Amino acid sequence: MSLVLTGGLVWDGRSEEPAEADLVVDDGRIEAVAAPGTVRPGDDDVVLDLGGSIVLPGLIDMHVHLVWSGGPDPARTVEHAGEQVTTLRAAANAQAQLLAGVTTVRDVGSNWDIAISLARTIDRGELEGPSIIASGRTVIMTGGHDPFWGVMADGVDAVVAAVRGQVTAGAGVIKTAATGGAYGREEGEEVGQAELSPAELGALTAEAHRFGRRVAAHALGTEGIANAVAAGVDTIEHGVFLTEELADRMAAAGTVLCPTVEIYRVIASGGGGEVPDYARAKAEAVVTAHEQSVRMALAAGVPVVAGTDAGSVLLPHPALASELLALRSCGMSATDVLRAATSGAAAALGRSGLGVIEPGARADLIMVDGDPFTDTELLHRPWGVVRGGRHVRGRDRLARPVVAHIR
Ligand SMILES: [Zn+2]
Repeated sequence: MSLVLTGGLVWDGRSEEPAEADLVVDDGRIEAVAAPGTVRPGDDDVVLDLGGSIVLPGLIDMHVHLVWSGGPDPARTVEHAGEQVTTLRAAANAQAQLLAGVTTVRDVGSNWDIAISLARTIDRGELEGPSIIASGRTVIMTGGHDPFWGVMADGVDAVVAAVRGQVTAGAGVIKTAATGGAYGREEGEEVGQAELSPAELGALTAEAHRFGRRVAAHALGTEGIANAVAAGVDTIEHGVFLTEELADRMAAAGTVLCPTVEIYRVIASGGGGEVPDYARAKAEAVVTAHEQSVRMALAAGVPVVAGTDAGSVLLPHPALASELLALRSCGMSATDVLRAATSGAAAALGRSGLGVIEPGARADLIMVDGDPFTDTELLHRPWGVVRGGRHVRGRDRLARPVVAHIR
């Protein structure tokens, strides 16, 4: 039984514009991208008439925290709620992402390795949700950024052991902190402060790569970004204080920037007094430099991908459309922001056959009314979602029950 999508315009994740085509989906993959009207469906095939809608690859959010609520102080919420309630919240957040057309997320920090368990449950088909590439706990120095979900490791041997521990736990990516952050901790943490040493970052990255895992480094200040880039990490998260020279080095090394622009604007806004004061003050101090850094990276040819930090302070799941709008405000074209959330993101994950619509690719698709190339806002609510060939969202209702069964 195949799923046949007819009467739509298909954007393949790479091209400048969508083109009329019909799609045949079979066994979770795209079997054919055919000229309109040329597919002859069989009796037991399911045909979906798109009535002129645009079909895009399922979206990818490169930076989320599924355990977090998107409330004013999400780390505190987890502390109060404990492991069981937090696990349920993470599952609900994952499903909210999927129904909004985000068919893949990279989760770069969760207490108790919850995002790894969730990734596994969804992979086994026991729960409906997006594909999750999860770090679980993060590898940080003692006193480093986001201690609530960090494995604290000091010295090369300890850092290597921590990477092995996360790989054994099932991490699909290794997350580390090369600098302090804005929200992390009230005291003893500054965005400009470098954290893991160059030797520790180098050892961490080599060990992760030895096991085929990519490395995401939280890095805001210039020194920490430079340390992470020199260590060969794959993605710089946030990258607030870039220099032109650093941007050139990233472009030459193929280091990807995942800036998460919107979250700092949200935290800096203060949320009508809801945001913790220390975090608002730190975010306020970085917003202008952040936008300049994104522009610098784009000018230097650094690949920029879309990640939101969804779940963090006043940024509930899903949040990708807001980040795409924020990236547009930093000078990216509408097509480039769509690439940053599809083919570009998949390239940064090292996954071929993801984030594109072509024969053999994974059948993760979204359908939208209107033109997302002129109206990025439309991506807030696709009317149709297909994940792994399964139609999970239709026009008026869920096409399938969200929870499959938990064995
Ligand atoms: Zn984050």
